[in-house]
Amino acid sequence: MPIKPYLCFFCLFYGSFYSAGAQAQPQQFDALVKQIERGERPFFSIADYQQALLELETALPANDTKRGSMLDRLRCTLAYFDKPEQGISFSDEKLSLAKKNQDHEALADYYGCRYYLYSQLGQTQLAEQNAQLSYEAASTSENPLSIAISLSLLGDIASYRGHYPDAMQHYVSAYQLQLSLGYKPYISDLVLAIAATYRRMGLYQDALDYLAQAEQEFTAPHEQFRLAMILNEKAFSYAEMNQPQQALELFEQALQAYKQLNEPLWQTSIKVNLVWVYNLLQQYDNALAYSQQALDELNSSTVPDESSLATYKGLLALYHGETLIALQQPEDALHQVTLAEQHLSIDDNPRYRLMLYKVKAEALAATGDMPAAYQMLQHYLSSNQQQQQQAKEQQSNLLRIQFDSARQQERNQQLAAEKTLMQQHVSTLQLAQRWQYAALSLIALLLLILFTAALSLKRRNRRLHNLAMTDELTGIANRRRIMLLAEQERVKALDTTLPLSFLILDLDHFKQVNDRYGHEAGDLALQQFSVTVSSLLREQDHFGRTGGEEFLIVLPDTELIQAEVIAERLRHAVAAINISDSKKPFSITCSLGIAQNRPDEALNITLGRADDALYQAKAEGRNKSSTGQ
Ligand code: GH3
Ligand code: MG
Ligand code: MG
Repeated sequence: MPIKPYLCFFCLFYGSFYSAGAQAQPQQFDALVKQIERGERPFFSIADYQQALLELETALPANDTKRGSMLDRLRCTLAYFDKPEQGISFSDEKLSLAKKNQDHEALADYYGCRYYLYSQLGQTQLAEQNAQLSYEAASTSENPLSIAISLSLLGDIASYRGHYPDAMQHYVSAYQLQLSLGYKPYISDLVLAIAATYRRMGLYQDALDYLAQAEQEFTAPHEQFRLAMILNEKAFSYAEMNQPQQALELFEQALQAYKQLNEPLWQTSIKVNLVWVYNLLQQYDNALAYSQQALDELNSSTVPDESSLATYKGLLALYHGETLIALQQPEDALHQVTLAEQHLSIDDNPRYRLMLYKVKAEALAATGDMPAAYQMLQHYLSSNQQQQQQAKEQQSNLLRIQFDSARQQERNQQLAAEKTLMQQHVSTLQLAQRWQYAALSLIALLLLILFTAALSLKRRNRRLHNLAMTDELTGIANRRRIMLLAEQERVKALDTTLPLSFLILDLDHFKQVNDRYGHEAGDLALQQFSVTVSSLLREQDHFGRTGGEEFLIVLPDTELIQAEVIAERLRHAVAAINISDSKKPFSITCSLGIAQNRPDEALNITLGRADDALYQAKAEGRNKSSTGQ
């Protein structure tokens, strides 16, 4: 989890009076981590770091390795901010562990922490290297907060080095990320950083625009500190734009805000700047009064790191020198300039150096040392020219970056629009596909229904066909079918010249059977008769019921003489049937008429002759077979 402490070298003990519970409280631990992570916990002094660390250590449950390693990540900054060398060796060990575990978020934190530690040691190159590594690890981790924080580190480094366009690019990227995350403290820090960068580049209007935006966002009472910083930054812009009246009003507002916040060193810093503004307003009495106040306060300050006061002491000496020049006290002015030179040599800021050359040249001129003054003026002019040139280049670089980022943004928007369009297209396709599936399913269902219907229709047709062609009682061919088969066989016999014979059977005295045993017994007799006859016929023979108790047998490839044999066999078999399934068993007999089809003889003629033969058999006493002539 990333942590970005306020790099506030000139802050006093910002009161944070959290009382740490004596017992381990994991929820309190998590809440505190979240607070620090989101930048909601202000760190303005070493005591703030120590306090936060104490609270975390107290809330940490025993044997909680996950929270323990989280604490270590925070510890790197909290415990070692003022002991950078120890912090670096602490992070060495933790870094190798994080590398082994491929914990990229932890890596981003440790590299970020090392950035601060190396910055403290003044090792700018190593600081920059670690900021870069932090950014790489954060990018791999894909944690947007880690990425945003490491980007602002890169911005700080670039800004420190005077690479303002690069700084701007990093800050703006970080700002956009933080905007999307919604972490206000980071957003306001970045707005301030961006505004300050614009101001340093001499783009005052851009600086003021950003500040106006920030001012609207941070009006809540707990945002007073940031609001004061905004006022301060705005005042700087106006002072540098040589609008001292506006600058004065804003600095005074900031001073009031810091008074309310009980921030003595911030008040001192404003007083230093008021000296500068009163010089611009040519109100030298006020300038002198603020110089004295600021000097007293700076000398009595108890900030642990003395070096952090140097910049302000240097600037105060410089501004005081300007006052003294105006008041025609060149010797004293020169003395202040020498003091300023000593204090400001620490941060070697090109802007301060330029101011120094100018004031020194003026002081020297005032003392009458014209050659030295001239030399200093030369220094000032060439440095100024160089800086102007640099500023010009940076401004055009910035314009290019702004253009690139605008174009990138446009491109992103275009890509987003294309993506939306694509998604719409895809969902339309999906919808169409869904309809297609629905239609296909419907068609399949319809086909299934049709198929089933067709199948049942076929079955029904077959049943109808069978019904139409089958005798219901006996299951053998009905009259229509047996007559059809008889005719087909006649034609076939004609073609093949094979013999064809017919048998006509009629049950004897069947009326009496019905009368004696009942109609149902008669039905049963008809059925058993059919089964018996069928079982005695060959595969190619046909058997059908032509009327009530009258049947026809078609015997293809059968001479008359063979037919007579078959007839006799059938007659005997029928007589042997024991109609058993009735109350009283009984037997039946049948009479048979036989005829062979003569070539070219019509079916009804042949059957007529068979019928005559049957009549003959009946007449001869029944249970007989007779051959038709
Ligand atoms: P014959 O020996 O001269 O043929 O005498 P028959 O009684 O068999 O002849 P007839 O033509 O006088 O009577 C035929 C009888 O067959 C009449 C009818 O009751 C009976 N019969 C016809 N169809 C069926 C049927 O499907 N079931 C039953 N149980 N009897 C039937
Ligand atoms: Mg009959
Ligand atoms: Mg009969």
